[in-house]
Amino acid sequence: MTEAVTPKTALRLQGVRKSYGQVVAVAGVDLTVEEGEFFTLLGPSGSGKTTLLRLIAGFERPDAGRIELAGRDVTSTPPYLRDTNTVFQDYALFPHMSVADNIGYGLRVKGVAKPAREKRVQRALEMVRLAGLGHRRPNQLSGGQRQRVALARAVVNEPEVLLLDEPLGALDLKLRQEMQIELKQIQKDVGITFVYVTHDQEEALTMSDRLAVMSNGQIEQIGVPVDVYERPATEFVAGFIGISNVITRNGVRLVVRPEKIRMLAEGEDPGPGMTVEPGHVEQVIYVGMTTRYLVHLERGEHLVAVRQNMDALGDAQKFEGRPVRLAWSKEHTFVLEKGR
Ligand code: ADP
Ligand code: MG
Repeated sequence: MTEAVTPKTALRLQGVRKSYGQVVAVAGVDLTVEEGEFFTLLGPSGSGKTTLLRLIAGFERPDAGRIELAGRDVTSTPPYLRDTNTVFQDYALFPHMSVADNIGYGLRVKGVAKPAREKRVQRALEMVRLAGLGHRRPNQLSGGQRQRVALARAVVNEPEVLLLDEPLGALDLKLRQEMQIELKQIQKDVGITFVYVTHDQEEALTMSDRLAVMSNGQIEQIGVPVDVYERPATEFVAGFIGISNVITRNGVRLVVRPEKIRMLAEGEDPGPGMTVEPGHVEQVIYVGMTTRYLVHLERGEHLVAVRQNMDALGDAQKFEGRPVRLAWSKEHTFVLEKGR
């Protein structure tokens, strides 16, 4: 008999709340993360991401609610008895230990014998592409390499859930983008469940299987990246992930993403089924790969349209002040939930 392959739940939060005095940091969070998932908590600074991660790790106790890891209630379990590991933004490596000893530290504490430990450390070093650098001290590594050591040190323990709090936050943009791809690949390879915290929208969209968008200690929306971007449930989500572009029609709040809007040439027929809005270009912003046009509609609202810079003409500025008609297909608009 073959059993149906149902995904197992790695983490479940139910009604989790945490306040610090008057400040409600986490205001009742429910969520489920499946085994092997790359799950991201995305939100602006102060939205409660770190507090939620610390609650999962056990560094904080919730005021209310329940936390389960692999089906086991750990709400009152101390951190060292939870099957989690945390990677912090500042790496927190031991400066006086070699890279290999840093990575093997957790295994040594757990009493894993030296030969087995060395084998696992070696594999972890290869996984993060630092084979051959095990003898170095952390201060003999670059920022990106140090971040990899921190990752290897956590992954080597094979926790049920790996918690990562803005782990790429200290890296410059280019390295950060490289590490996003690498980190995602490593996660796929090892198959460990990741709960990843970031305030960076693009990072969340790039890396996550699913993400939760947080605001004021609450989850505004949970979904796969495409859903959250293409069909944001609330005005907050629409504005936080990408450019919000909200307009009102007959009392209904609609969103249309900038890249879905066409700027019609003079006299151009938009074709059937398109919504057309006249206005004038108020601002032209060159952003390298694209140019953004801020358009003031005749009906009073503003929309942003984006165009790819196919030809490097650099003459987009001449559009400023000009009349323009914007066109988009109805299927590219969506209605925001009322009152949110
Ligand atoms: P994020 O990680 O999304 O930036 P945090 O979880 O760090 O958000 O913080 C959420 C809210 O809780 C903020 O208003 C913050 O000031 C407050 N907060 C977090 N930790 C503490 C603490 N130890 N004492 C008091 N307030 C805190
Ligand atoms: Mg934080």
